[in-house]
Amino acid sequence: MGYEELLEEAYAKMPGKAGSGERFEIPVLDSFNEGNKTMLKNFQAACTKIRRAPEEVSKFLSKEFATPATLENERLVLHRKLRSDVVNKKFEEYVQGHVICKQCGKPDTHILSEPGQRAKTLVCEACGARGVVR
Ligand SMILES: [Zn+2]
Repeated sequence: MGYEELLEEAYAKMPGKAGSGERFEIPVLDSFNEGNKTMLKNFQAACTKIRRAPEEVSKFLSKEFATPATLENERLVLHRKLRSDVVNKKFEEYVQGHVICKQCGKPDTHILSEPGQRAKTLVCEACGARGVVR
């Protein structure tokens, strides 16, 4: 077996990198600064793509950046000046932790939260795996 094949085999065995060839693309947030604020123009559309409520994602970003966030129709306003790559990196972190299944790498998941329990569960609709969400 050649080196390349070995590499391919190693990749196929990696969790979350299932060799279906079909990879989920994390939507890119279109952001710009206005004064000391950061506007995320396509926030609503990006949330639809990852199948999460804009309120949830907004809460996460607001907490992570320690700044208030306001939903304005299609867009989200962060009350702090942030670079686009910084915002997108955080958004990617959210998607990796709250959307993509750690077992099969698919984004077909939903979050279960039990009343009275702090921990939430990420349930994968593709492979049935369950994971804990921070
Ligand atoms: Zn899965």
